[in-house]
Amino acid sequence: MKARIAEVFNSVQGEGLYLGEKQVFVRFFECNLSCTYCDTKLDRFTEYEPQELFEEIRLYQEEQYHSISFTGGEPLLYADFLKETLDLTSACGYKHYLETNGTLFFELEQLIDKIDIIAMDLKFPSSSGMGNLWHMHRKFLKIAARKEVFLKAIICQATYEEDLKEAMAIIKEVSPGSVLVLQPNSYENQEVLKKKLFSFKDMANRQGVRTCVIPQIHKVVGIR
Ligand code: SF4
Repeated sequence: MKARIAEVFNSVQGEGLYLGEKQVFVRFFECNLSCTYCDTKLDRFTEYEPQELFEEIRLYQEEQYHSISFTGGEPLLYADFLKETLDLTSACGYKHYLETNGTLFFELEQLIDKIDIIAMDLKFPSSSGMGNLWHMHRKFLKIAARKEVFLKAIICQATYEEDLKEAMAIIKEVSPGSVLVLQPNSYENQEVLKKKLFSFKDMANRQGVRTCVIPQIHKVVGIR
C-alpha cells in the first residue's frame, strides 16, 4: 500500500493553537477540495510505503518534537495508509497531530483512536467557494470531539456573517468547549479585514463560543 507524499520536513507549526511548536511535517499530495484561497500548490510527490515513511520520520529522532503533523492536501484521503503508519509511530511514542479540511468523517472514524490532536478546518461557503459543507463538518466534529480538537476558519472580505453563525451553531451543538481560530486571508488587506475579525470575535463572545484571531504566521515570516 502506497501514498503520494509531497514532502517530509521539520519546522515549527505556523498556525492555530499550537503555533510555534516544533513538529515533523508529512504533507500528503492530493486534496478532495479546491478552495479559492488555497496556497498549497503541489506539483510533485514521492510514493511511500508506511514502513518507508516511518523510517524517514525516524531520521528526525535526534531532536525533541511536539508531534508529527499529518497535513496536506488532505491526509485522510490515505486513511488505510495512515492506519498502518500510525501503528508504527505510536509504538515509538510519537504524538499525532492531524490537519484536515474536516469533511472525510468516515475515514476519521477509522483512525480516531490513533490521533491525539485534530486541527479541523471549517470551510465557510462565502470564503472557500466550496459550497455548503456544513453537514459533513457536523458529522466530522462529532467524531473529532472524542479527542482534542480545535477549529480554524479563513476569514475574507467576502465572508458572510451567516457562515459564522452556522459555524457557531455547530460548535455549540456538537463540541461546545472547542476553540474556533479565525484566520485572516493572508492575500487580502489586513487592515480592512481587522474590522471584520474583531466584529466576528465579539459576536462569538456574545454567543459563548471561544474564538481567537491568529494569522497564518508561516506565511508572514516565510517558513514552511
Ligand atoms: S482543503 Fe486545504 S489543501 Fe485542500 S484545497 Fe482547501 S485549502 Fe487547499
